[in-house]
Amino acid sequence: MKKPLFNRLALIGVGLIGSSIARAAKAQGVVGSIVATARSAQTRKRVAELGLADQVVETNAAAVEGADLVIVSIPVGACGAVAKEIGPHLAAGATLSDVGSVKASVVHDMAPHLPKNVHFIPAHPVAGTEYSGPDAGFSELFVNRWCILTPPDNADKAAVEKLKAFWKALGANVETMTAEHHDLVLAITSHLPHLIAYTIVGTADELSEVTESEVLQFSAGGFRDFTRIAASDPTMWRDIFLANKDAVLEMLGRFNEDIASLTKAIRRGDGEALFEHFKRTRAIRKGIVDIGQDSPAPDFGRPHPDLKLPLPKPYSSEG
Ligand code: NAP
Repeated sequence: MKKPLFNRLALIGVGLIGSSIARAAKAQGVVGSIVATARSAQTRKRVAELGLADQVVETNAAAVEGADLVIVSIPVGACGAVAKEIGPHLAAGATLSDVGSVKASVVHDMAPHLPKNVHFIPAHPVAGTEYSGPDAGFSELFVNRWCILTPPDNADKAAVEKLKAFWKALGANVETMTAEHHDLVLAITSHLPHLIAYTIVGTADELSEVTESEVLQFSAGGFRDFTRIAASDPTMWRDIFLANKDAVLEMLGRFNEDIASLTKAIRRGDGEALFEHFKRTRAIRKGIVDIGQDSPAPDFGRPHPDLKLPLPKPYSSEG
């Protein structure tokens, strides 16, 4: 049997992402054993019930003892305090990573608390759903998704390669870039779309006279897809916007300029400008499908077994 890449994986935080890592790492035999911990006794109990780890311990410090890979999977705003707590307990030569959706702030908050003999290699698996908690995870979450590593310039090459191999074993494609570049790219591909979804769903909610009826009733007109994104975890997303403030503000500035020009085109009845814009954006959707990052099936390939209602009786003029 092939030797696991890491002997002992410590997971701090076992929500959607942490539990998916646990499931996938176990299924792939990529780690010898898994020790896990979470903030609340309730989550720790659930992790034990689900059999996600070989051992569930009460404290972060106890979790990292003797682990050669530690992955912190908690909201980005909490990463600094956890680094301070585990720093003195990390094993010499261990690799410490995370899964946070923002990278520069995580590096800024965690790095000062870490001993020199530990390989700190931040990571962000660009994969997820709008669900949270240990029950929400699944082992295939990372398959054919990208995991971005943001190793510091002086990172140990062998340690980076080993972490890459770990994520590849979980099914991910791996890319490396600087933390700052990551934050700029994700500001436009993920953070701004979430902000727009949160805004539009909130705006509709404030139109209280239509919320209870028309907005929900006619949601298939586009609104419904925004509600899925706007259902994402409030703590996680509060932290992302606070942590990636500069990049999000930069992208928001560009977005506001573009929405102003579309507003102008609508006001002036400039159909050509609108058509050209929509033609360009449709090609982007095609590009995403072409590289296998989404399904070409209508409605993103969602199955709707409960929506497949029979047609009414055929029309007959005789009534
Ligand atoms: P989640 O399902 O809500 O799980 C969060 C975990 O963090 C839970 O175990 C929770 O413990 C723990 N936690 C929460 N606040 C904490 C704190 N202040 N100190 C210590 N532990 C704390 O979240 P998730 O979706 O797995 O997200 C985790 C990380 O992955 C975030 O940094 C997020 O940016 C990143 N990420 C998320 C997605 C996504 O789509 N969801 C995708 C990529 C990356 P309790 O259960 O005990 O409260």
